[in-house]
Amino acid sequence: MAIAVSVDALIVGGGIAGLWTLARLKQAGYKAVLLEADSLGAGQTRFAQGIIHGGTKYALTGKITASSEAVADMPALWRNCFEGKGVLDLSKATLLSDAHYLWSTSSLTSRVSGFFASKVMRARTNELDKTERPELFRHADFKGQIYALDEPVFDAMSVVRAIAEPLMDSIVAIKGNTVKYDNDVLSLQSQDDQDYEFSFEKIVLTAGQGNEALLSALGLQQPEMQLRPLKMVMLRGGLSDMVFAHCMGGSVNPRITITSNRDQHGAVVWYLGGQLAEEGVERSDAEQIEQAKAELAELIPWLDQSKCQWATLDIDRAEVKKPGTKRPDTFFIEQRGKVITAWPTKMALSPLMAEHVLEMINNEKIPCVEETGLPVWPGPDFAYLPWNEETRWSM
Ligand SMILES: Cc1cc2nc3c(=O)[nH]c(=O)nc-3n(C[C@H](O)[C@H](O)[C@H](O)COP(=O)(O)OP(=O)(O)OC[C@H]3O[C@@H](n4cnc5c(N)ncnc54)[C@H](O)[C@@H]3O)c2cc1C
Repeated sequence: MAIAVSVDALIVGGGIAGLWTLARLKQAGYKAVLLEADSLGAGQTRFAQGIIHGGTKYALTGKITASSEAVADMPALWRNCFEGKGVLDLSKATLLSDAHYLWSTSSLTSRVSGFFASKVMRARTNELDKTERPELFRHADFKGQIYALDEPVFDAMSVVRAIAEPLMDSIVAIKGNTVKYDNDVLSLQSQDDQDYEFSFEKIVLTAGQGNEALLSALGLQQPEMQLRPLKMVMLRGGLSDMVFAHCMGGSVNPRITITSNRDQHGAVVWYLGGQLAEEGVERSDAEQIEQAKAELAELIPWLDQSKCQWATLDIDRAEVKKPGTKRPDTFFIEQRGKVITAWPTKMALSPLMAEHVLEMINNEKIPCVEETGLPVWPGPDFAYLPWNEETRWSM
């Protein structure tokens, strides 16, 4: 027999957006439950480079854009959470680097010097002399400029764990293909085959790429979604430095964005994104690896690549649809009746997105259901970071 559960808010999707929203709604006293069809973080979140952008990347043209305005407060907000004084407690998360860096090679400097000298950049960055640079850029062969950006970098899955672990009694592992909506009730099966019938005042769709199918199950065709693919590159073996830096290539997108982490054996892994990953979707895996090797050889010629093992990784970013598949300027939320659809656009913007969801629900003054306790249900696992999946390294 199906177990009937009545909640104020049902959240679907346990990536960074859904989890942050769950935490904020519960703090505000709502009876909220989150449904996850795979493992927590399994969508885009575990693939994120973890950079909490402060907008500098988007100001690369020298102009403040809507994107750079929206994200400007995010580094301070996330840092406060990490220090245990913010809206959520992220003190158990892993801060990989307190700053992200921006460098130009000597050959690029002339092309981008106007940008480096611009007022926008002077207000947001801090040029480093040799003693202040990260180890990799203290090498005698480094001839460019390097700036520190006020952009902390987090291990994305450690953030997922820090938020989810105290809330596991409100998170259900479900079978995604069993979800049906009829007569205002969402029926589904949990991963241990128990049937549930959820009634709710609001349903918040934070399922990333899964939002499209959920909207359709709820009888909605809007808002429309877009996918923007990336072909990321990972390398490990013989790397000693943890690097967190964008290389400026004279366009809006950094030519390459490097973040680092350690794999389960403690080895340093570099994770490469930026223009390399955007343009790499046109390349085969082998071509993309050759391109990454060539880029690193040109941009960091003193790096010894001889012991490196390489892998590529194809992943789509799911966002609200924009004309010409352009990147949305900021997060997206929209309400149609009981359904709130949300895409954070960036992990960094999830707190802001969640605040708007909370405000939307507060404004509705929904009649809160009586807190009757929740059934004991199976909780989902946590997803793996991609470099800890050994099969990816088989090339
Ligand atoms: C390669 C890459 C690098 C990135 N780097 C950064 C960065 O450095 N900084 C930054 O700010 N942002 C970054 N981003 C963007 C960021 O990762 C995303 O904006 C963010 O993770 C989206 O989170 P989400 O919770 O909306 O979606 P997701 O993380 O995709 O989570 C959706 C969840 O919903 C679940 N789900 C799907 N369908 C259903 C269903 N029917 N029922 C139940 N559950 C369902 C999925 O299993 C998944 O767990 C990056 C993205 C990519 C791809």
